[in-house]
Amino acid sequence: MKNILFTGACGYIGSHTAYSFLKHTDYDIIVIDNLSSGFVENIDFLQSTFKDRISFIKIDLSDSKSLENVFMESEIYAIVHFAASIVVSESVSNPLLYYSNNTKNTLDLIKLCTKFEIKNFIFSSTAAVYGEPENNPISEDSPLLPINPYGASKMMSEMILRDTASANQNFNYIALRYFNVAGALNDNDYQKNRGLGQRNKNATHLIKIACECAVGKRDGMQIFGDDYETKDGTCIRDYIHIDDLAMAHLRALEFLEGEKRSEVFNVGYNNGYSVKEIISRLKEISKVDFKVEIAKRREGDPANLVSNNTKILNLTSWKAMHNDIDLILKSAYLWEKSPMSLIK
Ligand code: UDP
Repeated sequence: MKNILFTGACGYIGSHTAYSFLKHTDYDIIVIDNLSSGFVENIDFLQSTFKDRISFIKIDLSDSKSLENVFMESEIYAIVHFAASIVVSESVSNPLLYYSNNTKNTLDLIKLCTKFEIKNFIFSSTAAVYGEPENNPISEDSPLLPINPYGASKMMSEMILRDTASANQNFNYIALRYFNVAGALNDNDYQKNRGLGQRNKNATHLIKIACECAVGKRDGMQIFGDDYETKDGTCIRDYIHIDDLAMAHLRALEFLEGEKRSEVFNVGYNNGYSVKEIISRLKEISKVDFKVEIAKRREGDPANLVSNNTKILNLTSWKAMHNDIDLILKSAYLWEKSPMSLIK
């Protein structure tokens, strides 16, 4: 049986992606995670569902000896690399943490890939590599001009991957540039127990925060700026359902297996919604009129980030199955209401 190494799969995107791989393929998964922001409960759910097809080792990626042991003990077929620090404001105040946790750890992981002749690498990148793009929707060949250390740390990792792949014909990678992910596992088999969703120690994302307001975990929220040059003055983002984002990783691996070459793909829907639109749809769905106030702009927020997704649609078999903002909001809201979301 082929093993895929998932780094950082105790987190939101990694755990949903592990679910998709286990459900739709025969691969086994080895998860490594330092649990700094992830939750072992996500692994518990995956193990209760898929039994011993998924194993977990608590390791920090900077612990190169333990990491190398994983490669020595198991034959790794592919790597899906999620583990990273992801809070933009923290990256501004502590850039070295980001260059070390994101860029340096990725570099060390890629070194092991070349040493152990791993052929397939899937990398969690981000729309933050584009900075404040002049044109929307953004295509993959837009200039990379990140405006914060988080985006820069991911851009540098992409460059290391690009150069390693061009120097080494047997190594191929896909970088997936995520747009704004939201929602929770939407599988009919697990509708009742709501096993996976967005757990956060300190939420910063719009839909998560709005859902916390709707279920009464917060008294109210702020809109960061209503004086942008957009249709209603608030920022526009392209929100993608977590299950579609998860499937993009599987389609990326299929692409690597079929094409044996590297690529970079945006993962979004080519749909933009403003902050005000998101809050108003959620109020309607939840039937809760929570308190919202206008605050000043949050530093580093681009006005508009919408993905051109033509490339992934044309080159891979990925499809946007949940491109419906109400469905995304409803699944995020129902998760937030469920007892599973209380584990923090
Ligand atoms: N936002 C907001 N209030 C919040 C959280 C977010 O107005 O409490 C806005 C934020 O300024 C941005 C958009 O919602 O314009 C999406 O922010 P989020 O943090 O969800 O994702 P980002 O695009 O920064 O990755």
